[in-house]
Amino acid sequence: MLNLPAMKPLSQRTETFTDSVIRRMTRIANACGAINLSQGFPDFDPPESLTRRLAEIAPVGPHQYAITFGAQNFREALSDKQFHFSGLRYDPQKEIVITCGSTEAMMASMMSVCNPGDKVVLFSPFYENYSADTILCGATPVYVPLSPVDLSFDADVLESAMKQPGVKALVLCNPANPSGKVFTREELSVIASLAVKYDLYVITDEVYEHIIYAPHRHTYISTLPGMFERTIECSSLSKTYSITGWRLGYVLAAEPVMDRVKKVHDFLTVGAAAPLMEAAVTALRFDDSYYADLQAHYTHMKQLFTSGLRNLGLRFTEPQGAYFVLIDISEFGYDGDEQFCIDMAQKVGVAAVPGSSFFREPINHLVRLHFAKKDETLNDALNRLENLKKLKR
Ligand code: GLN
Repeated sequence: MLNLPAMKPLSQRTETFTDSVIRRMTRIANACGAINLSQGFPDFDPPESLTRRLAEIAPVGPHQYAITFGAQNFREALSDKQFHFSGLRYDPQKEIVITCGSTEAMMASMMSVCNPGDKVVLFSPFYENYSADTILCGATPVYVPLSPVDLSFDADVLESAMKQPGVKALVLCNPANPSGKVFTREELSVIASLAVKYDLYVITDEVYEHIIYAPHRHTYISTLPGMFERTIECSSLSKTYSITGWRLGYVLAAEPVMDRVKKVHDFLTVGAAAPLMEAAVTALRFDDSYYADLQAHYTHMKQLFTSGLRNLGLRFTEPQGAYFVLIDISEFGYDGDEQFCIDMAQKVGVAAVPGSSFFREPINHLVRLHFAKKDETLNDALNRLENLKKLKR
């Protein structure tokens, strides 16, 4: 594990946010022709049966609005898939809404449980949308650090955060972006028992649920005792089926809270894209072999990329799930990770995300790279990274 800086146990700040640093880095990568390992998305194709189905749909539709909560056949297929993987049966009529990516799912969920002045607990490091979503709701993030050594959390620190007056929810990204942490069943049980004790919601982001490296396994916190009613589970098809541009996400939740999520969703976006939902039913009906192949493919990409980084003598986090590594750039002598990322994109030809955008604490010696790319792209990137030494000051 990396020697991450020690962080203050709990802190709050007068909150503000910029545009997304991740998506800004994509624009910088495009502008200078760098290989984009910043914003996480694949450069390989989605499954062929899925794109074939999309082509079949083009001349016949649907091309008009689906009903606002998502097409019926899509919600039924999703209910079946979720039952298969978690054993929980969500009612397609009452407990599922299809959104424009998990980004909308998270925002709609947060808006449905938070009032201005409330608080939301986030683990740090965290995916930048969570703090922005919290602030857009008029709420304040309360940060709980993951240990710099092993990414564990201190249960007492978590409890002191969760019991603060005004806390309505905790956000759980599992597997976690950017750390690659996969929360164990024991850790999830601690979070769940505190959520029950203090009567809080857990809003999950589980978009990497099918990208896990053995021996780690994904546990849905919604399946733990007392958690079905208080978990607002957000996920998407983006990562699982390599279709980030289709913007198909969803929320799964018990009816009372889902009634509120549905209202927010209805006015935020009206609904997800009808022809894409129709095509994606095919993917939701894939059998187990698809998910086994996906895991094998990601395990291969992780192996290729991390062994290349190791050969370059770089120090980085080893992910348990998702597809990110945090690289330690201390040796390069930069004052800030943002300038490092700009120089790396322009002079080395590889784009990364400054680590500071994921941490509550003022850290600036980490950058995030992702490896959801073809072998040739990863090999090209690794070749280019040999020139990193030129950035040394
Ligand atoms: N979750 C991906 C990442 O962190 C994509 C982010 C986005 O721009 N939606 O890079």
